[in-house]
Amino acid sequence: MKESLLASAFYDGDSRLAVLKFYDQEAGRFWHWKDNTGHRPYCYTRLERSELTEIAKRKDVVEILDEEREDLLNDRKVTLRKIVTTDPLAIGGGNDSIRDRIKAWEADIKYYENFAYDRGLRMGTYYTVSAGKVIPARKDLPERVAVSLAQLLQRNPPEFAPYLKEWAELLGEPLSEFKRVALDIEVANEAGRLPDPENPKQPVIAVSFFNEAERTVYLLRSGKDTEGLKGAPFAAEVFEDERSLLRAVMWKIMEYPVVVTFNGDDFDLRYLKHRAEEIGIPEAENPIQLERVASTLKHGVHIDLYQFFRNRSIQVYAFSNKYSDHTLNGISESLLNKSKVEFEGEIGDLPLAKLGEYCLNDSQLTFELTSTGGGLVMKLLLVISRIGKMPINDVSRLGVSNWIRSMLFFEHRRLGALIPRQDELSEKGGASSQAVIKGKKYKGGLVIEPKPGIYFDVSVLDFASLYPSLIKVYNLSYETVNCPHEECRTNVVPDTSSWVCRKRKGITSLVTGSLRDLRVSHYKPLTKDQSISKEERELYNVVTQGLKVFLNATYGAMGFETFAFYCLPVAEATAALGRYAITKTIQKSTELGIEVLYGDTDSLFLKNPSRDQITTISKWADGELGVELDLDKVYRYVAFSSRKKNYFGVLPDGTVDIRGLTGKKSQTPEFLKRTFYQALEILSRVKTTEDFERARANIRELLTKMIGDLKGKKVAVEDLAFNVMMGKTTEKYNGTTPQHVRAAKLLEDKGREIKAGEIIQYVKTRSPPYVRPVELARVDDVDADKYIEYAHSMFDQMLDALDFSFDEMLGATTLDLFWSG
Ligand SMILES: [Zn+2]
Repeated sequence: MKESLLASAFYDGDSRLAVLKFYDQEAGRFWHWKDNTGHRPYCYTRLERSELTEIAKRKDVVEILDEEREDLLNDRKVTLRKIVTTDPLAIGGGNDSIRDRIKAWEADIKYYENFAYDRGLRMGTYYTVSAGKVIPARKDLPERVAVSLAQLLQRNPPEFAPYLKEWAELLGEPLSEFKRVALDIEVANEAGRLPDPENPKQPVIAVSFFNEAERTVYLLRSGKDTEGLKGAPFAAEVFEDERSLLRAVMWKIMEYPVVVTFNGDDFDLRYLKHRAEEIGIPEAENPIQLERVASTLKHGVHIDLYQFFRNRSIQVYAFSNKYSDHTLNGISESLLNKSKVEFEGEIGDLPLAKLGEYCLNDSQLTFELTSTGGGLVMKLLLVISRIGKMPINDVSRLGVSNWIRSMLFFEHRRLGALIPRQDELSEKGGASSQAVIKGKKYKGGLVIEPKPGIYFDVSVLDFASLYPSLIKVYNLSYETVNCPHEECRTNVVPDTSSWVCRKRKGITSLVTGSLRDLRVSHYKPLTKDQSISKEERELYNVVTQGLKVFLNATYGAMGFETFAFYCLPVAEATAALGRYAITKTIQKSTELGIEVLYGDTDSLFLKNPSRDQITTISKWADGELGVELDLDKVYRYVAFSSRKKNYFGVLPDGTVDIRGLTGKKSQTPEFLKRTFYQALEILSRVKTTEDFERARANIRELLTKMIGDLKGKKVAVEDLAFNVMMGKTTEKYNGTTPQHVRAAKLLEDKGREIKAGEIIQYVKTRSPPYVRPVELARVDDVDADKYIEYAHSMFDQMLDALDFSFDEMLGATTLDLFWSG
């Protein structure tokens, strides 16, 4: 096999072996390598052999061995029993699994992960296979990069050296381009109802494929005219029957090692798979394989961008919150400046040319999301796959705490250390500080109350890697916080009753700390180094971004109860040191004569500081605290409330940073949405204090009019409709009935058939059942107070920061109405 990139792995249930997927960039295809080393599933237990007689007798147990492991929690070596089995299900996930019968260690790791960790396989890097053996194709670092690394090694304690070297080698390997196609399907649907991929009754009428070289749409003729297709901007192939269409789709999918979709896990691929079964296409011809959550490809890799983009860490740290709506349209508008083609009516009624265009547009947007910014998405997946030691398809679907889990599992295996059980970590004890926020188990970040008012030219400084830096500098890890050594107890963490080990470096501290240093002192400077090639700079740019996502997510994961290494005293110590760092920085700023307006956890709002002042503070933080402090953004102005700690800021380009319209954007009635955007528009135009006063008055006027219009019944019912999708049919709702379901029942009473997936438009009304479908509602039925209440919650934060209250305004309008009415 030629040098190929290890991109994925899976467990083959038929042969009971792990299979690796290597990508050959030149050939544009995957090679499969099936394990021939005799590796078998296993788990550990602390029980003695005499206590394992029942287990030893099982048919699925091959042997029980003694094995020595490093017990980091107790800082000693320990000999355990290693139970080796024929099948991963014998350990967990099957009937009567070993982990359900005895207390077992490392029994909840997927088998292919287990295999990859044991073999020290570095996902996302290059290998060759020779005489059946998998051999890493290590590459030397370019001269300039090696020098930079050597300097970094000198500045660090010796324990960090092997980590820094290993990471630099891993992350320095060249990136790969993946031959890929984006796919989208259209299904003939019934009025207002979404097709069901588990029970695909409607035919697939269009399938589009898009990449740089291909714009193809397969269309089902359905008795339509093919005239308009002649001048179409895509290659159309029209099929007389659905069976031939689907077979052609399967063949086309086989041509590509990587298929990209938007929501293909839940819809496109799932529908194709089941529909092909439904109309009798043999399984052998079907490249799609369904798992519980994912839809995968037997011959390649499927990336579902919906799963990738809805990952909060990707949204916040890789794309700086440029998108907030997780639909294809929302993300495309933000990242590509392009929209989905809008159309009214039934997709099945469209002429073939229009249908093809519509379908192609979706796959085009999907593809472009993976090619924009020099193919950032695919490259980021690859880099994260390297750091997380995880198949690229898993990276695209799983959350950050899974990436970190995988990274640390790999590290434990490399060190011959036993991976602790979660109950062992929770036995390390609770938190010592009182939680400030209700529902939190420990005291969180520090919040400095803002000084009310409006401020122009506000700089926001961000501790970009605050927590990873603290984890490194203060040696925080599950085994070092409250370690077993008596002599370490005096090394106390401020504001807690915990202590930190002085005798050994913690595993999390070594791993996270070395990644943090590489990002800040190695890769970031390299991205700007003109003496290395453009390709190398680009690689280091992606690496820097990947590290940013990883590092910023570390602390969040540590406070996450389901995280594999969740340990309360560690999360608490990290937060306490964060408060310490920000307090010190505020003191320093004040000394330098800079006014601190507001501080929250890891950011500080400074009133009009000079460039020099910012540089001085950053340098001080780096030297004194070992923490990176960056200028995050400069607001044209920020308004702080005297009521709560609410604020909003306006950026130089007029963008308003504000919460509001959260989560329920798509269901919010048009009328309220419109008013909200009008208010934002007013705020975005403010340039001076006088402007601001005028803006306040204008918004007051706008909202008074909104309330007046609602009370005076001047808004059309269509504009007041909430739009909510039926998750299931009405009779399947038991117990409390949500509002949209109550509305749907009223439609059913009128003889309409309501199906799962249908969007119900309803308004809130004054008489039982307090909702009505738009079709049946009149303006007089509308409950104005309910809408005013809803508007109240939408505008609350904005008004707080403007320093007037919704209630005040409501009082005013009541009087106005009284006098005018
Ligand atoms: Zn210690």
